[in-house]
Amino acid sequence: MQLLDGKALSAKVEKEIADEVKILKADTGLVPGLAVILVGQDPASAAYVRMKKKACDRVGFYSVTHEMPDDISQDAIEKTITMMNDNPNIDGILIQLPLPPQIDTTKILELVDPSKDVDGFHPYNVGRLTTGLDGFVPCTPLGVMNLLHEYNIDVKGKNCVVVGASNIVGKPMASLLLNANATVEICHIFTDDLKTHTLRADILFVGVGVIDLIKEDMVKDDVIVIDIGINRANDGTLVGDVDFDRVSKKCSYITPVPGGVGPMTIAMLLSNTLKATKAHADERE
Ligand code: NAD
Repeated sequence: MQLLDGKALSAKVEKEIADEVKILKADTGLVPGLAVILVGQDPASAAYVRMKKKACDRVGFYSVTHEMPDDISQDAIEKTITMMNDNPNIDGILIQLPLPPQIDTTKILELVDPSKDVDGFHPYNVGRLTTGLDGFVPCTPLGVMNLLHEYNIDVKGKNCVVVGASNIVGKPMASLLLNANATVEICHIFTDDLKTHTLRADILFVGVGVIDLIKEDMVKDDVIVIDIGINRANDGTLVGDVDFDRVSKKCSYITPVPGGVGPMTIAMLLSNTLKATKAHADERE
């Protein structure tokens, strides 16, 4: 069994981005800029935003976080987004989800300029992804594809089973796999007899948010397992959705949690932001 080391790959990607930023600054004076909207006091969301800000600092990006209270109005968030859409120093806009219940999240995501949509959640970019066109791809599944590529794992013709069908993880994961010519099955909370499906997987992708959902009798020998889940165990440690100790014994490759997909997500946010900066620079020329 070999670990798919997202921590190592993300460090490599960050180094490449930092080097590119230095050259970009020297040649054009441009500095990639990322704006984040954080609503409310959810500690997990705040921790993710802090990690993203630190990553921006490490590679030399400009970043700004707009912190807003839980009872913020739709109108106030929309005004901030419009301001950032119009700000030439901002190349990427990230809305930290989830938003509070009084907010229409779809409307908020649709307001982000698609050319600054570095999370790839705008329907314009979702449409480009499903039709196989270039655009912004959600960071977590994009990170998974990069990790597979790093280890020379080709998904073409493979049975890829994706467990979890959210807009930010499972659905874009499935689109990327389909675009790469894998045979794709998508499972979710209403899937009957999950094990029948997971046993067919050459490569199993799990992004659900349930500790130990995938057990050793649910995978075949030599399977490749990508554990996207991040859960807080009773003892406070971070764990994925896969019973790592037992399942890993049957795997050819598996991602650890932490240190697998998580760091890749942040690296891809940086990569998408740099991509946005370059596209904006081309527009200005
Ligand atoms: P979500 O709640 O939006 O979606 C969960 C999905 O899992 C749904 O499609 C649901 O139908 C399915 N599901 C729920 N219970 C199931 C079950 N028992 N069997 C099969 N399917 C089931 O969650 P999300 O935002 O997609 O996040 C999923 C997990 O991925 C969470 O643990 C989250 O923390 C993690 N995550 C990790 C990263 C990362 O960078 N590694 C990024 C985003 C999310």
